[in-house]
Amino acid sequence: MRDFTLKSYQSLVVAFQRAGYQFQTFEEMMSTPSETKTVVMRHDVDELAWNALKMAQLENKLGIRATYFFRIVKQSNVPEVIEEIVRLGHEVGYHYEDLALAEGDEKKAIETFKENLAYFRKYYPVRSVCMHGSSTSKYDNRLLWKNHSFASFGIVGEPYFSVNFDKVFYLTDTGFAWDGGKYATRDVVESGFGLRFHTTSQIVDCIKAGEFPKHVLILAHTLWTDNLAQWYGLHIREYFRNHLKMWSKSSPRIAKFYKMLVEMYWKK
Ligand SMILES: [Zn+2]
Repeated sequence: MRDFTLKSYQSLVVAFQRAGYQFQTFEEMMSTPSETKTVVMRHDVDELAWNALKMAQLENKLGIRATYFFRIVKQSNVPEVIEEIVRLGHEVGYHYEDLALAEGDEKKAIETFKENLAYFRKYYPVRSVCMHGSSTSKYDNRLLWKNHSFASFGIVGEPYFSVNFDKVFYLTDTGFAWDGGKYATRDVVESGFGLRFHTTSQIVDCIKAGEFPKHVLILAHTLWTDNLAQWYGLHIREYFRNHLKMWSKSSPRIAKFYKMLVEMYWKK
């Protein structure tokens, strides 16, 4: 069976619901942390914004609320999609990459951060932000907070700073696998749970067996689709992308080539 489809996503949500987990948005997790079994579904809308909307509609049908982090770039920032996701009752946050876009110019980055945050607040009273990995940039977007505080912008949480990953089990779908962390450049957190999953059905089995951690933060991107052509297209693309990313770590020539491809992609 194909994994990372909306069907497999639904099976995951339903497994949590049957096992008595409640769903919180990221903001709720920050403001009213729960002692009972809780899942936070975080979606980084790196691209394919319309796929995010399909996910949001499915979640709404299943009666849960999730958190959608939008980037300022046009592949993510699609007003109709943001408006509809807000209407469906989900949380919207800002997926910032200001330091990378400003080529490391901190002053400029904090200015654009402020502007972009104000922009997203036209759609939703944004209280959560989350860095975008910007894997081909030498600038780590989190360094924006070296000399500034996100709290001063009315932000209550940033997943990479505000979550205790010893208490909250973190799962991410990087590279169409739940153990694809080796492909991630920056989106890596250390966790001491000693659990490892590859497919969604392995997670579902663990939840059913009652062996899954009590507090969970799941990052699911927007590449989940029931459309067969898109599913194959994305899997082939991710296969090459992940290998280029991995080889880039040891070869500056491949890193340069990969950076060129990424720049071409985001320019179109
Ligand atoms: Zn991202």
